[in-house]
Amino acid sequence: MSLRLVENDGRMSSASNDPFHPNPSRGKWRAGVLGATGVVGQRLVKLLSTHPWFELAEVAASERSSGKTYTEAVRWQLDGPIPESAGGLLVKSLDPSLQCDFVFSALDSSVAGPAEEDFARAGYPVVSNSKNHRMDPDVPLLIPEVNAAHLEAIPVQQKNRGYTTGFIVTNPNCSTAGLVLVLKPLAEAFGLEKIFVVTLQAVSGAGYPGVPSMDIHANVIPFISGEEEKMESEPQKLLGKWDGTRFLDAGLGLSAHCNRVPVLDGHLECVSIALKKIASLHEVREALRNFTVDAELASLPTAVRQPIFVLDGDDRPQPRRDVDAGNGMAAAVGRIRECPLLDVKLTLLSHNLIRGAAGAALLNAELLAARGFFPLRVASAESRTTESIISPFGA
Ligand code: NAP
Repeated sequence: MSLRLVENDGRMSSASNDPFHPNPSRGKWRAGVLGATGVVGQRLVKLLSTHPWFELAEVAASERSSGKTYTEAVRWQLDGPIPESAGGLLVKSLDPSLQCDFVFSALDSSVAGPAEEDFARAGYPVVSNSKNHRMDPDVPLLIPEVNAAHLEAIPVQQKNRGYTTGFIVTNPNCSTAGLVLVLKPLAEAFGLEKIFVVTLQAVSGAGYPGVPSMDIHANVIPFISGEEEKMESEPQKLLGKWDGTRFLDAGLGLSAHCNRVPVLDGHLECVSIALKKIASLHEVREALRNFTVDAELASLPTAVRQPIFVLDGDDRPQPRRDVDAGNGMAAAVGRIRECPLLDVKLTLLSHNLIRGAAGAALLNAELLAARGFFPLRVASAESRTTESIISPFGA
């Protein structure tokens, strides 16, 4: 059976002239969520329940959860009830035999590395939130608005690893996601030299149950294990180039201080930036305000056409007031001003569980689907039959 209907440039080769609006008669792609019971997994389950292109077909988690229904296994953290489409699903183990077209991974990093490789080797596209493969030399670390061209690494990864239809694509660490989204238009307009960033990160960034309440209540913890290293390395890959064989670093000077604060959702970051070209504050503000994604990205269901919201109030952005900007997919930026040490400084905020995790993974999956990296579906969900699905994984 032909497993991939993809031309060399990664676009769909048949069934639709417009890859950004999949033909409704083709049906939805079936998604599996590994780590579906965790805080990121729950966000994915909720977002998938109303998604126009994807439907939740499988959930998997640890031995503590497998064999139970999703409702029995999960400690639901979100507003509103567990989506009906998810509640009755049986939670599976990490065996790569799920009945779905691709998987999201929201697994704890203690197990994500080999589990994601197992799924990719078995033919599943893996869209990961976990840190394990982010810096692999053949794995795209993707923010569609920043480096969609990095998807060109997928065929190289498949060749290197002997994968057939499977592959791994990752999204960045939650603080890096907001930072790099905001840096992108500045890199394009003025070039970047040095970045100094101090974060104030929400407790939901640590998963559930996360930091003990007696440690974080009325307190700030000036250490998050591994976080500064991620923030000092991931932007180099995201803002660098894929040269056809490897990722080239952006060559930035980067220094990060990471702090955990008693906020539920939303990472605030105070950033000082040295630019390559001299720019006025007005030009910086306009570059951020006018940052607009291209038509391909604008057509993806989770994308925001202008993903940076510039706020003018002296005391914004604030997590409680601004975390849901652009349905949680935008970065809110304020306090743009001169920096006496570098050139410009600003404060940014992004939703760690949406822009920094579940929403980021969903947007990555949408771009992959639009570019033909997922198995094609040829029937509507209602009339689906075994024969009607061009998929390596059965129906
Ligand atoms: P979490 O709440 O602790 O959830 C972890 C998930 O992994 C749960 O579904 C858990 O299943 C599963 N799991 C743990 N051990 C397992 C095992 N041995 N076998 C199979 N499944 C196992 O963590 P999270 O915050 O959702 O984070 C998930 C991943 O996303 C992590 O790699 C994290 O670093 C990354 N991430 C998180 C954020 C954030 O803001 N929270 C942002 C970006 C990336 P059980 O419920 O059955 O134990």
